[in-house]
Amino acid sequence: MAYVITDSCIKDSLCVEVCPTDCIHPKEGEPGFEAATQLFVDPVECIDCGACVPACTSDSILAVDDLPEEKKPFIEKNAAFFGK
Ligand code: SF4
Ligand code: SF4
Repeated sequence: MAYVITDSCIKDSLCVEVCPTDCIHPKEGEPGFEAATQLFVDPVECIDCGACVPACTSDSILAVDDLPEEKKPFIEKNAAFFGK
């Protein structure tokens, strides 16, 4: 299981600052940041610590097991950003 960022993300990068494994990308200044509609969690590097969830003011980050049906495509979208 990993955590997944969904389409209500406003790219304010608050989650990036608290993630202990640096698995949320693209970060500001990285290739693709401007073009990205949201940020993404690397499903392999995420350690399921949940630290990013309270940091997110738009409730955009959910555990895979808690995703409502209509948000499940974001599992693949997060992984795809990392080519996984
Ligand atoms: S659950 Fe932890 S490791 Fe995974 S993205 Fe959030 S802060 Fe990073
Ligand atoms: S804290 Fe939430 S809204 Fe901000 S970048 Fe992370 S997922 Fe997106």
